[in-house]
Amino acid sequence: MRKIQMVDTKNQYLAIKNEVDTAIQSVLDTAAYINGKAVQDFTAHLAQYLQVNHVIPCANGTDALQIAMMALGLKPGDEVITPSFTYIATTEVVALLGLTPVFVDVDPVTYCMDITSLKNAITPKTKAIVPVHLYGHAAPMEEILKIAEEHHIWVIEDNAQAIGCDYTFSNGVTKKTGTMGHIGATSFYPSKNLGAFGDGGALCTNDKTLADKMTMIANHGQSARYYHDVVGCNSRLDSIQAAVLDIKLKKLDSYNAARQKVAQYYTNAFASFSQIITPAIQKYSTHVFHQYTMQLQGVDRESFIQHLASKEVPCMIYYPVPGHMQKMFGDNTHAHLKLEVTNALTPVVCSLPIHTEMEEDQLAYIVEAVKSFIQKS
Ligand SMILES: *Cc1c(COP(=O)(O)O)cnc(C)c1O
Repeated sequence: MRKIQMVDTKNQYLAIKNEVDTAIQSVLDTAAYINGKAVQDFTAHLAQYLQVNHVIPCANGTDALQIAMMALGLKPGDEVITPSFTYIATTEVVALLGLTPVFVDVDPVTYCMDITSLKNAITPKTKAIVPVHLYGHAAPMEEILKIAEEHHIWVIEDNAQAIGCDYTFSNGVTKKTGTMGHIGATSFYPSKNLGAFGDGGALCTNDKTLADKMTMIANHGQSARYYHDVVGCNSRLDSIQAAVLDIKLKKLDSYNAARQKVAQYYTNAFASFSQIITPAIQKYSTHVFHQYTMQLQGVDRESFIQHLASKEVPCMIYYPVPGHMQKMFGDNTHAHLKLEVTNALTPVVCSLPIHTEMEEDQLAYIVEAVKSFIQKS
């Protein structure tokens, strides 16, 4: 049996080595390392895939979120609502720009933004909502968009974990996550569902004005060469990453299907165990399983992890400290918040290995390792 890993980017590469090597070589041959044809091609293909008018490439997913907030012209004192139960990047950029992060709770079933908590958090200062499609499942966008529209608030989707996921509205219209709000931000970090061989990110929007602003901001606020109209940053996707991503984009749906198969295997295997709550899929969303995150009930998580480790089965806690408890936001600034679901989930979540290259014998082995602990406890 192959060594089990949380992600296996090496074997994913080997499966497409010839294609990828040729594409990288062609970038080297043209020496157009920055803004080469590969970047334009990939960007156009991604726009087509997402069915969105504009895709703006950038250096990583965190930059994408930052550029989005800069393009919306948010000012210090403006409040931005994000879930606390997410990767820190979502909220970090809010603080970095001098905006005020407002943490809300998540739904215990989807792990995504809770609607009641969102409604309660809105004030006259609220300027943006950043829902996160956590672990690969869509946030309840229809309700979020409705609330945002009522209050004239911007919506930036953090789609770093859910590229390829479909959301279906109550009228039957289906859209890709990241394309429903005013702006969508995504990441091509190597372990993401569409992963580069280094850092990468992108923004998407159907709004031409925002697209132009974001393009300008990502390029030093430049309107014409050496004419800088606004304060921007330097955030580029390089040509080699774009060439790799263009190949992998064609395989994204099959990659996501491979993840779904792994998830189904786990979910079937754990169905009869009351100690394990397996991930749910709402009827409005597909699930592209960036992570397979379960909740452990009445199980000592530390011992469980040690047990798996002793059998060389890795697992991870996403995330051990919720945003509102992080020291970076100042001691106890947010610690008083009653984010009951977030606080209850944090000590019980546990994510099992999931990626596109998992083999049946590995899955069987992982399931046995989990069961051997659960049955004892
Ligand atoms: C990975 C991730 C990001 C940041 O992406 P980087 O490319 O690592 O900067 C932002 N939000 C979420 C939810 C993520 O998982």
